[in-house]
Amino acid sequence: MKLGGPRLHKFELKADNRPVANTSWQQRIWRAEQLAAKHPFAGEILGFYIHVARFQETLYHQLDRSNHGAAKSSAAEFRSAGVPRAVESASRRLPLQQEDVITNALLVHFPKFLSLVEANAPAPLAQVAHDLCVSNPNSWPNLFSECWTHTDPSTDPEEFLVLAFLQPYAELARVSLPVENSASRLCPFCSRKPALAILRQQGDGGRRSLLCGFCLTEWEFRRIVCPGCGQEDHAKLPVYTAESFPYIRVECCDTCQTYIKSIDLTKNGLAEPMVDELASIPLDLWAQERGYSKLRPNLLGM
Ligand SMILES: [Zn+2]
Ligand SMILES: [Zn+2]
Repeated sequence: MKLGGPRLHKFELKADNRPVANTSWQQRIWRAEQLAAKHPFAGEILGFYIHVARFQETLYHQLDRSNHGAAKSSAAEFRSAGVPRAVESASRRLPLQQEDVITNALLVHFPKFLSLVEANAPAPLAQVAHDLCVSNPNSWPNLFSECWTHTDPSTDPEEFLVLAFLQPYAELARVSLPVENSASRLCPFCSRKPALAILRQQGDGGRRSLLCGFCLTEWEFRRIVCPGCGQEDHAKLPVYTAESFPYIRVECCDTCQTYIKSIDLTKNGLAEPMVDELASIPLDLWAQERGYSKLRPNLLGM
């Protein structure tokens, strides 16, 4: 990775040492900087993440400005057919296909994103970005559409990159919709498997929710149920923690042999789930060495 080290933001700090961050991206970037300093083994990945997050934030605002309302109307279409959204969103085409303004905005920004990845990602991902950069731009709208509609977890690094690029668009499309309560194991908006779980304080215990890594929908989910296969038998759902990340639980399932990391905000209120999940690489290595596979890999395919 050709990483010169991410430029540190000058954050204005509040009394509890959290930054006065105006956006969720700035909060995540701040957290990534903190964790990179604390965990050198994750510095490379978090450095790359910071570049991506800055790009995503800029793209989000540009999409929002350049086509005010287009993404919202696309999102509204998700409901109009009267089909349960979990099914409908998985099968429908990428809304941007019908939205020339958004499509053009994405096409304009894609080369810039690929250059950023090529310059800052680990070598294999940088090579994929390079190959995409020199590919025919006429093929890109189809590529976007394929990645949008392919909701199963993928091992294809090209798909990871395209999803990271489309993430701000997915979030923009999603924010106009209130998320209905769902007991689904899949994201109620885009039908993907959750990237991680979050534990928040509720009464004397914690309640668990699941977070989609693509459109960032968060939905409540029962604590003692495998989000991979629905297993409810406590004995088949071992939970592990490690000293280095005492607030992150590795929640495994011995039935479907998957795991998901659960960020316990009752133990660490400073955590930014997406970022802390990315930083805790040793937990992935640990789980994968024991034969568990991750329910949904993150941006780096881990
Ligand atoms: Zn989603
Ligand atoms: Zn399971």
